Amino acid sequence: MSNPFDLTGKVAIVTGCDTGLGRGIALALAEAGCAISGANVVAPTETAEWLKSGGHRFLDIRADLATIEPIPEIIQRTVTEYGRIDILVNNAGIIRRADALEFSERDWDDVIAVNLKSVFFLSQAVARRFVAQGEGGRIVNVASMLSFQGGIRVPSYTASKSGVAGLTKLMANEWAKHGITVNAVAPGYMATNNTALLRADAVRSKEILDRIPTGRWGLPEDVGGPVVFLCSAAANYVTGHILAVDGGWLAR
Ligand code: NAD
Repeated sequence: MSNPFDLTGKVAIVTGCDTGLGRGIALALAEAGCAISGANVVAPTETAEWLKSGGHRFLDIRADLATIEPIPEIIQRTVTEYGRIDILVNNAGIIRRADALEFSERDWDDVIAVNLKSVFFLSQAVARRFVAQGEGGRIVNVASMLSFQGGIRVPSYTASKSGVAGLTKLMANEWAKHGITVNAVAPGYMATNNTALLRADAVRSKEILDRIPTGRWGLPEDVGGPVVFLCSAAANYVTGHILAVDGGWLAR
């Protein structure tokens, strides 16, 4: 019997895979059999080394997703290199922290641009390619606990990740007829750059850890398996779903 989680021969675009969760996702997809196209604003040096030393294919595309300008090049270079696209993981994201009473327009616009606008227009461009290829495809967005909860001092981040949850469902609804599934993973509190300030604050860090049933911060490798599942034949009938990967945070 064939392995329903096997992704041998698939081509996956992963945004923001130079570090953190994106790197964990790229490594897991590569180990499941994918060739990876990495769209990064900075050089993904370690990711590229790890993938190549493991015998995996990796295409390094420099793309600043603060605007939608790099999107045509991401599609074109991936197709030129690998001949097709099967999977898109919208992982790149930023966060800005300030009290809602003081929050600036800049911190609003910057976060919405990367976390929401580029996610939609890259998904649209990849979905157009999926439709042209005629064999469906998989899109996985990276949502957040703040797709479900309000959070504190992160208004544009909460708006963007709540928006990502809604968009995931809209795209799933519209593109199911083309054989495209659109899901999201919603990581809980993960030990990456994104949460460095939180983890450095002893009081907030303890409050957060005390609420996580598994009793630890999540790691990049914790997100890789759920993304592989959503991209695999095992998830053929799963679409429009936001899968919490949170050590039980939402269960509390
Ligand atoms: P991180 O800061 O380590 O990684 C963010 C990634 O986005 C990096 O690869 C970075 O280079 C990339 N990026 C930032 N600005 C970009 C731009 N303009 N163009 C292209 N790429 C850009 O943090 P992370 O935790 O690994 O974050 C990855 C995703 O996971 C983000 O969408 C984040 O919101 C989400 N997330 C993180 C947590 C957590 O606890 N760490 C929880 C929920 C969701």
